[in-house]
Amino acid sequence: MRFDRLRLNGFKSFVDPTDLVIREGLTGVVGPNGCGKSNLLEALRWVMGENRPTAMRGEGMEDVIFAGTSRRNAKSHAEVALTVDNRDRLAPAGFNDQDNFDITRRITRDAGSAYKIAGKDVRARDVQMLFADASTGAHSPALVRQGQISELINAKPKNRRRILEEAAGISGLYQRRHEAELK
Ligand code: ATP
Ligand code: MG
Repeated sequence: MRFDRLRLNGFKSFVDPTDLVIREGLTGVVGPNGCGKSNLLEALRWVMGENRPTAMRGEGMEDVIFAGTSRRNAKSHAEVALTVDNRDRLAPAGFNDQDNFDITRRITRDAGSAYKIAGKDVRARDVQMLFADASTGAHSPALVRQGQISELINAKPKNRRRILEEAAGISGLYQRRHEAELK
């Protein structure tokens, strides 16, 4: 699964609409301290369904909304849209007839997050499952956070197994089994 574009609006320091085109090959993001490099990667995790505010370096999920500066007012919502290249047809049924589609997450103060796949309202779980099945989820080893390598080395066997399952692309199945057992 490839990503074509990441669009941000009101997400953290990206107060104005920002359109990042991700070309084939290696992409580097460079800039001075505090310019928003990590915020960009957090936007990617967030649109993929990350639900832990700590993973966004915040106390609550609304901390991802532009908080305002001395010259700009705070915003009431934040939105991130990710365009996924679907030429390998990894999207779930119903979205799989298109070469690419958008996944959108929007958060509004006091109203929480809303997700869309290809313009249709979906649940957080639908987005998380899509990426779990494609093994590139918000918790995926394909996104390596600072300190994660040492966490992997020091992890308990059960937690290490979860990371290996994610890499093997079976964590979506595992999640579905867990839900079936609860029913
Ligand atoms: P470094 O090179 O130090 O790692 P960086 O380029 O990764 O820096 P980020 O951590 O992405 O920088 O950006 C930090 C900036 O984002 C800070 O200036 C911080 O004030 C700003 N920021 C974070 N959350 C918000 C928010 N909700 N509203 C406005 N600005 C925010
Ligand atoms: Mg950084």
